[in-house]
Amino acid sequence: MTNIKKRLLTGIQASGELHIGNYFGALKPFLEIYKDYDSFLMVADYHALTSIRDPQAIRQNTINVVKDYLAVGVDPSKAVIFRQSDNQDHMEMGWIFDCMVTVPFLMQAHSYKDKIAKGAEPNAGLFTYPMLMAADIALYDTTVVPVGEDQRQHLEYTREAVGKFNRAYGEILQEPTEKIVKGVGVVPGTDGQKMSKSYKNTIPLFGTKEEIEKSVMSIVTDSTGDIPENVYAIHTLFRTKEDLDSIYEANKGRYGDLKKILIEDIEKFVGPMREKRNAITDDEVKQVLADGAVQAKSVSNSILAKVREAIGIAL
Ligand code: ATP
Ligand code: MG
Repeated sequence: MTNIKKRLLTGIQASGELHIGNYFGALKPFLEIYKDYDSFLMVADYHALTSIRDPQAIRQNTINVVKDYLAVGVDPSKAVIFRQSDNQDHMEMGWIFDCMVTVPFLMQAHSYKDKIAKGAEPNAGLFTYPMLMAADIALYDTTVVPVGEDQRQHLEYTREAVGKFNRAYGEILQEPTEKIVKGVGVVPGTDGQKMSKSYKNTIPLFGTKEEIEKSVMSIVTDSTGDIPENVYAIHTLFRTKEDLDSIYEANKGRYGDLKKILIEDIEKFVGPMREKRNAITDDEVKQVLADGAVQAKSVSNSILAKVREAIGIAL
């Protein structure tokens, strides 16, 4: 019997600074399992184009995301770290999936509706984003996709696109399953809504102590209860429930003090990782991405070749 590891792929958009929601919803669960799989970690820079039109910001965010991956402990010799834009196969497969699903189906996507409601421009890229994501996943015969709770529906969309493709052309593509960590769910932002890079409601993972202080102090609190719900929800990521219950009991109604304790707890956690991150150079990042691009393409090229053959593009 051969002992081939299952393939795992996950990605983060180069849409801004990573926040603690990304860490607990995506990075931490990835770190816990990635060595057991044949792991691919993608910087989704083309996805970021749905919300960002500043070239310097895309460049900088891309470098930063990779630094973040390395600083939290991802070993580039144990996972392929690559940029979506370094592999043209994603664009081609994305188009093929666009042709598999209907407009009314895409209109049901929560993430699209939420972003529009938050004032995002409803550009066609934002609308078809789930099909580019389906391509990201299907191109690598991915079976496991560790993501945050907010991405559950997008995984269903991927399965739908893959299923429709396979029904039309034969069992060519692999249907993925999601792997969502229990207990984390959606981490709320400073405004109580989903913490999102593009919502400006984040607590940055690698912010300076001052930046962390500023965002924690801005967490909205409901003035009616003893326990500030959003502060508590974020605090559960850093301490056990037993610990928190006694802290919140002892500081009932003292929101400012509770926030200060949260700031200290975040700082204790982030401090050492921040130091590690500061030592990583841009050149190291570029080398990791160059190596990753070669490896990513060698896998996706052969899968896309089968797809092209199946749909009648290869003459
Ligand atoms: P954007 O606002 O650009 O969509 P984002 O903050 O939602 O950015 P993504 O790059 O879309 O981040 O998602 C990266 C990963 O982080 C995904 O696996 C996603 O499920 C997870 N994630 C994002 N926000 C949260 C959150 N608030 N709580 C838990 N997990 C999250
Ligand atoms: Mg998102």
